Amino acid sequence: MPDPDIIGNRISMFTTLSDIYNARGEDLGNKNTVLLEKVSKTYQMGEVEVHALKGIDLTIGKGEFVVVLGPSGSGKTTMLNCIGGIDSPTEGTIVVGGKDISKFTEKELTRFRRETVGFIFQFFNLIPTLTAKENVEFALDLVPREKRVSALSVLGEVGLDDRSNHFPSQLSGGEQQRVAIARALAKRPPVVLCDEPTGELDYDTGIKILRLMRDISRQEHCNFLVVTHNSAIAQMADRIVRLHSGEISSIERNENPIDPEELVW
Ligand code: ADP
Ligand code: MG
Repeated sequence: MPDPDIIGNRISMFTTLSDIYNARGEDLGNKNTVLLEKVSKTYQMGEVEVHALKGIDLTIGKGEFVVVLGPSGSGKTTMLNCIGGIDSPTEGTIVVGGKDISKFTEKELTRFRRETVGFIFQFFNLIPTLTAKENVEFALDLVPREKRVSALSVLGEVGLDDRSNHFPSQLSGGEQQRVAIARALAKRPPVVLCDEPTGELDYDTGIKILRLMRDISRQEHCNFLVVTHNSAIAQMADRIVRLHSGEISSIERNENPIDPEELVW
């Protein structure tokens, strides 16, 4: 596996996507590789144009744990939504697993969202009429039978096995967030997109969840893109991307990511 930063530097030498394909060979086709090239998103609000993303270039390599920092309104959620195929860029290209997702049909996008992406939203988006276990089972339905794990074991991973029969309304904010995390991670998707995944959690639970995410990224080589206001979490990342007014203001490689248990906030 080539170093993603080397890939990043090499990419900057080329101008077209096919150059990048050629330079990267097999690797770009890896289902875990995410590439954003000159990605812009403009929302039209009546007379006003909102430039949420302005020419984002970013590559995320296999099994990388990337933390995205930036003030409110800097485009973090828009970037996640575009990578996850629930929003689309106005300009630029997003390639996931060697495929340009902007060229996908609706049907292909649906399949992509189901099979390739795990979303942990800022608002938990649990189905209120399903129990915690059923919410996770719902996501597992999409996983091929031979790879399927039990919903209970995934709830166990987030420390909620004793809440499996509770409905979302019977769970605290932090517990609902953990169900949402279990649901996203259950299918071990190649790309996991998290918007403030630990925002509602107490410190100890937050650390346990970060440990789980870290282990999954290492064992399954899933890509994690984690948006957070909590800059302490950056210390466990492989790379830290800072967004400002829709632009990347810095990309920093963390040579010595620390264990989640060592994080302090
Ligand atoms: P962040 O997640 O960093 O807080 P967002 O990506 O949510 O930032 O928003 C970036 C900018 O785009 C903000 O100015 C926001 O108001 C605007 N924006 C986001 N989504 C929409 C939308 N659906 N329609 C119009 N403007 C939007
Ligand atoms: Mg946001």
